[in-house]
This record gives sequence, structure tokens and C-alpha cells, in this order.
Amino acid sequence: MEKNQIYDFLLKELPKEQIKIDELMKYHTNFKIGGIADFYVIAKKVSQIQAVLRLTKEYKIPLTILGNGSNVLVSDKGIRGIVLKIAIEGLEIRKGKDYAYITVGAGEPLGKVSYSLLKEEIAGFEFASGIPGTMGGAIRMNAGAYGGEMKDCVLSITCLTRDGNLKELSNNECNFSYRHSIFCEQPLIVIKTELKLPYGNKEEIQAKIDEYAQSRKEKQPLQYPSAGSTFKRGSDFITAKLIDECGLKGYSIGDAQVSTMHAGFIINKGNATASDIISVINAVKQKVLEQTGKQIELEIELLGEF
Ligand SMILES: Cc1cc2nc3c(=O)[nH]c(=O)nc-3n(C[C@H](O)[C@H](O)[C@H](O)COP(=O)(O)OP(=O)(O)OC[C@H]3O[C@@H](n4cnc5c(N)ncnc54)[C@H](O)[C@@H]3O)c2cc1C
Repeated sequence: MEKNQIYDFLLKELPKEQIKIDELMKYHTNFKIGGIADFYVIAKKVSQIQAVLRLTKEYKIPLTILGNGSNVLVSDKGIRGIVLKIAIEGLEIRKGKDYAYITVGAGEPLGKVSYSLLKEEIAGFEFASGIPGTMGGAIRMNAGAYGGEMKDCVLSITCLTRDGNLKELSNNECNFSYRHSIFCEQPLIVIKTELKLPYGNKEEIQAKIDEYAQSRKEKQPLQYPSAGSTFKRGSDFITAKLIDECGLKGYSIGDAQVSTMHAGFIINKGNATASDIISVINAVKQKVLEQTGKQIELEIELLGEF
């Protein structure tokens, strides 16, 4: 299917301002890296996602799902087909006697959700306040920090299959484990989440949020673009510690560098390319293997043509 035909189809289903052709992905990733996507489409409604699913299925157009782009490295060659940013909004709170039930759209930023819960004195979501992702991305990654993870708060998930059918999954059915969920195994798109959380004391919730923010400021190179921790934690080792012990802090290729502040982060010091980042990743993997015998595994996801 020609590009102009794809555009005409999309235009029938979505407002013009939600469709961009030949869009540089560096504008949509936390790394500030990434070549051109043929189409970058923002979906604010379920029906808009369903329309894109129909199009991509019928004409075999590659489809890439994106949240806030905070856990991905996009190739310098970009992404063929359609990148679909899930921007479903909405946050509703239903207060039960002992627990609050919160329905959150997949496109809502975690920081915003955390602030809304603080205002209502709902506890248990403080861990997520400094994670720069959307609810959908966090569910897929089972994002976590400071002893909490999405698995602990999710009651159920509503998602779309690639055929465009709605499906509801219970927490158990999500196969959550460390930085993993069913959404890594099957091409399901998170639409909304129902959280179940206890009530708490506003000052205590605020104190936790402040403590975690302070800890991130002290330990993480937040002034540079990155995708957070580049590698997963090992089953019997802390990866950042291994990288540090291998003397790799500050190791760089071009503008890609193993942060001097936190060895688990690879940062973009200005004009790093995806290929610079990959070269640093490969060198770090190789050196850690040679010096410690440990295989380290990527946490960030690679999107596009590598
Ligand atoms: C400074 C910094 C600090 C970070 N700290 C943490 C931390 O403490 N803990 C932690 O776990 N992570 C952390 N991260 C990583 C990242 O923020 C999380 O993984 C986050 O949950 C990703 O959400 P996102 O919306 O940005 O997803 P994206 O990066 O856009 O996408 C990640 C993956 O999820 C998929 N996806 C996105 N939305 C959906 C959807 N609606 N349905 C199905 N699949 C979807 C994408 O296809 C992709 O495969 C950090 C990142 C940075 C830059």
C-alpha cells in the first residue's frame, strides 16, 4: 500500500493533528535518539486503535506500540510502518470501605497518577512516582522501584488483541514477574488498568514520594537523556555494581557513555546515535562476561531496524 493511501485511510479515522508522516523518533524517546518512522499516530480513543489494527492487519503494515518512549532505544534507520502512541486518558477513583479502586487510561503518565492518588490519600503507588512512563508501558514492563512494582497494585487490565477485540485479564493472568508480563509474550495492547490500593496518610505518602525523588536525584544522571537502567538485575548479582567493578564507569563511544554517576545507566551526552549506544552496550556485555563470567541482559527494548 502506498504512503498516500495509508495517510488517506488514517485521515478517515483520526484527526489530522494525530497523524504525522516521516516523523523523527528522537522527539518521542527519552534517549532523544531515533530515526524516522514512516507514520507516527497518536491514539486517544479505543476506536482509533481498532482502526489502525484493521489497517495494519489487512495490508500487512508493521505496527509498533509506544507509550512515553522511556524504556526504548530506536534505531538510527528508524521504524518502518506505523508507530502507534497510546494516549488513552482518564482516571476515575471509586472509594470502597477499605480500598480504593482506580481506573486509569493506558496513556496516563505515572507521575500524574501518583499525584492524583496523593491528593485522595491513597497509598501504595509512591514507588511509581518518579518513573517517567505511561501506565501502559509500566504494565508491560511490570515497572518497579523501591520495593514496589505494578504487580502489587493491579486488579485487572483491559486490553485489545491484534484482531481489535477487547479482553479483560486478572492480575494472575498477566504473568507478572521481574520486568516481565504477558504483554511481552503476546501482542496485546493495554487500554486501561484497574488498581486496588489501600488508604494512607497524606503526609506519609508525600514523605515517601519526596524521599524517592531525592534518592533518584542523588543516584541517577537525570540531567542526561537515557532509558533508565540499561540492563536487568541478575538473579544473584546487581548489574550496575558489576559494571562499576569492571572499571566501566565513564566508558564512552561518541556521545554514548556509561554514566559516571550510576554504572547501570548509559546516557546520551548530546549527539549519541543508536549505533553508539549499541556499541557501548556490546562492549559492556563483553567486558563483564570476560571479567566476571556473568551474562547480562538488556532491560531496555530495541525498536526499529537494527
Ligand atoms: C530516568 C529514568 C528512570 C527510570 N526508572 C525506572 C524505575 O525505577 N523502574 C522501572 O521499572 N523502570 C524505570 N525506567 C524505565 C521506564 O520508564 C519504564 O519501563 C516505563 O514503565 C516505560 O513506560 P513507557 O510508557 O515510557 O513505555 P515505552 O518506553 O514507550 O515502551 C516500553 C515497551 O512497552 C510497550 N508498550 C507501551 N505502551 C503499551 C501499551 N499501552 N500496551 C502494550 N504495550 C505497550 C512498548 O511497545 C515497548 O515495548 C526509567 C527510565 C528512565 C528514563
